[in-house]
Parts: sequence; structure tokens; C-alpha cells
Amino acid sequence: MTTVPSTDERLRTVDEARAAVLDAISGPVATEIAFLSEALGRVVAEPVVARTSLPPWDNSAMDGYAVRATDTIGATEDSPVRLEVVGEVSAGSAPDVEVPRGGAVRIATGAPIPPNADAVVQIELTTPLGADGQPAGPRGRDASGPMPPAVLVHASIERGAAVRRAGSDLAGGTTILQPGQTLTAAAIGLAAGAGIDQLPVHRRPRVAVLATGDEVRAPGRDLGPAGIPDANGPGLMALVEAAGGHAVTLGIARDRLEDVHSRLSAALADGADAVVVSGGVSVGPYDVVKLAFEKIGRIDLWRVAVQPGKPFAFGTAEREDGSRMLLFGLPGNPVSSFVTFELFVRPAIRALAGHPADRVLRPTDRAVLGEAVSKGHGRRAFIRVVAERDEAGSPIRDDRGRVNVRLAGGASGQGSHVLSALALADALAVVPEADDELPAGADVELWWLDRD
Ligand code: AMP
Ligand code: MG
Repeated sequence: MTTVPSTDERLRTVDEARAAVLDAISGPVATEIAFLSEALGRVVAEPVVARTSLPPWDNSAMDGYAVRATDTIGATEDSPVRLEVVGEVSAGSAPDVEVPRGGAVRIATGAPIPPNADAVVQIELTTPLGADGQPAGPRGRDASGPMPPAVLVHASIERGAAVRRAGSDLAGGTTILQPGQTLTAAAIGLAAGAGIDQLPVHRRPRVAVLATGDEVRAPGRDLGPAGIPDANGPGLMALVEAAGGHAVTLGIARDRLEDVHSRLSAALADGADAVVVSGGVSVGPYDVVKLAFEKIGRIDLWRVAVQPGKPFAFGTAEREDGSRMLLFGLPGNPVSSFVTFELFVRPAIRALAGHPADRVLRPTDRAVLGEAVSKGHGRRAFIRVVAERDEAGSPIRDDRGRVNVRLAGGASGQGSHVLSALALADALAVVPEADDELPAGADVELWWLDRD
């Protein structure tokens, strides 16, 4: 008694379908304040301003002696100048002594420059002297040994040498992070260095994942005569997390409208930003996902000229507060669900997470096919390929900069159910709609996949 939804049945191109998905997103998800420890990979929501200058005060770039540069004029290797050591300043303590004319203060890397010093002479250019005025140890003796009463300086030191000026890295009040910027490890280090421990970021989009199918069993369950392990649930959960979303499982539904609908309702009530359902999207008698989508919201598109990836359904459901949950119905075949996730769901998660439009899709590359391929007429095919690499792991490119690729799992690896080949692939090669087949040596667009 399955009826085909009364949706526009025109076959959409991949680009039209992706545009329809992205159009349904009115903007990034809400902002929250995150500790730096939770911020990696998230997107900055508001400008972030440095709370301190960096360094906060003039400090030493070397272990050595803080001096007045003029006191060292004319010093050479064989004709050093003698300076009296009047005190010491270590990292983390404020100087309690000034540098008098003809004097020096022993200083550690990162310690504040004491008053009246304008340069640091590194320990390697000094010889410690004993109370008797004779060398008390070799040149450049360990900077942490007993403090000598005087030192010889064997070079003429320029003003400002080995001094890191306050604010030379960063002036307090400077905007250090802009909205839309991804928080990399370096950006987190920068924020911490600028005295910041919490940041305004977009929260992670909450994405619910539902597997469907009477034959689909949770990992570890007995398969019986006709069961298969659930590959899509765990695989899609991982894809959601890798895309920057927060994945929430809805388990495995039976091929029953009520079961699918009640799980979708739970996700809607839970505030999910999107739900990703695998299986049950075709028009067979047990394919209830489209009906469930129509019951909880509406279907916006469901016929896309992509291979693998037929069928694919996209819709939206609305909450009473007007907020929306995106509905993705992906094919049950694991490779198809993976590829359609790449093409349509990952960009949506990244747009929801606040990435700017030019960072929503993966950067593309060019490749040369190692083998001939053929595919369905009129569809854009995404072939799973492995790049040839050199010993350092870098892709091998031809003289036009194109990566040499081979079919993952060989010629028999391209079936939409062949998980073993998918797991080998490190990129998708794109075969355009107009080409029913391409010869070995053909030039194709390449989408790199996550490898780590
Ligand atoms: P369907 O789209 O429901 O017609 O499923 C297409 C194929 O994918 C069938 O062979 C299913 O058994 C298989 N399949 C569906 N869901 C899963 C899943 N979660 N894990 C592994 N295979 C699945
Ligand atoms: Mg099914």
C-alpha cells in the first residue's frame, strides 16, 4: 500500500540537489561559550580580542645576562669586558634589582628584563669569574649553576639583542580570531596565549542517525538465517563526528512506518538539527522512510542523478518554535549511503556549524584514471579510488600535476555494497553525467576523503 509521495519527480543534478539542501539552511546553529579544551574544530561565532599583550612585558629570549649595551662596546673574543653580577631574575619572578653601569643581572629565558638593561648577552658569550677575578669555569657555563660575582663578555652586544619587546607578537585589544574561522590547534594556542580561556563558538550541530531494515542487526547480535550487521549506523555516526557534528543514535528501526516515525519524532523533540536515515527510501512495499518524512514534515526532493546514491530523499520538519530539523534519507547500500553523506549531508553539517560558504565543500583536485570505467547513463558517478603514493606518502602526480589513481578494490570493487573497497579508498573520482564510460588515462575531478 506504499504510495509515491507527491513530490516533484524531476531528476535533479548533484549540484541542484546540494543547492536545495543548502538553501533549506537558514543560518548556522546557535552560539555558545566553549572552553578551549572543547573548541578544537569548531567555528568562531564572534570576533575574539586579545586580553593581554604578548609578551605582556619585555622579556629575555635567551639564558644569559641582562646588560647595558653601551657597557659592551669594543668587547671581543680576546679582549672581553668585565661586568659585576649584581643579582638574578628567573622566569616567573619580578626583577628586584636594576642593572647599574658596569653591571649585569643573570637572567633566564622568559624572565622580565630588569630596569636599565637594554640587551641580553647569551650565556655562551660569557665566562664566569671567581671572587679572585680568575675564570671560575669554562665559557658559557651552565646558566643554572652558582651565580658568579662577575663575568667576562666576549662580544659587543647591540641594543635590544635577545630582548622580546612587550606586545611585539600581539598587542592587547587586537582582534585575533574572526567569525567563521575554524579553531585549529594553533588558533587555540593563540587564544590561550592571549589570555583567553573561553570563546564564543557555534555549538556542534546535533545529528541523529537511524538505520532501518528488518534484516539489520546491531553489532554482536545473532544474524540468524537472513540478518546482516548494521554497517550504516556506526559508519554514519562516525561520518557525522568527522564532519564536526554531534552524533546521536536512534538505533535500528523495523520497516514499519510507526517505528520510523516515532524515532524521528523523538529526534525532533530532542532538538536535533538533522536526522540521517539509511535504508527504506526506495518505493518497495517495505520502504516507509518517505512516508515517515511526509508524516513528520515534508519532502523537498528525492530523485538525484548520482551513482551510487539512488534513492536519496531530503526534507524538513518544523518544531513549534519554528526551528527546523533537516531530514536526509540515504540508500541502504553502505557505499551509497557513504557517498550521499559526502555529497549532501557533510556540506549541510558544515554550513550548520558556521563554516563560511567557501569552506563547506571539500577542495577538489585533478586526477588521471589508471583503468577504464563505465557507469549508468545520465548520472554523475563518484568512483572510489586509491591514489598512487611515493615512499613519503605523497600522491604521485604526472607532469601536469594530476594524481594517478586506481580503482579501489579493482574492477569488482565498485559495487554499491562493497564495503571492503570503500575502506581502501582515499578519494572519489568524478565521472560526469555525459560520459557513459571513460578510458584509462582520462582526466577527472578528484575529491579527497579524510584519511586520518
Ligand atoms: P534498502 O535501501 O533498504 O533497500 O537497502 C538496500 C541494501 O542495503 C539492502 O541489501 C540492505 O540489506 C542493505 N542495508 C540497509 N541498511 C543497512 C545497514 N544499516 N547496514 C548494512 N547494510 C544495510
Ligand atoms: Mg531496507
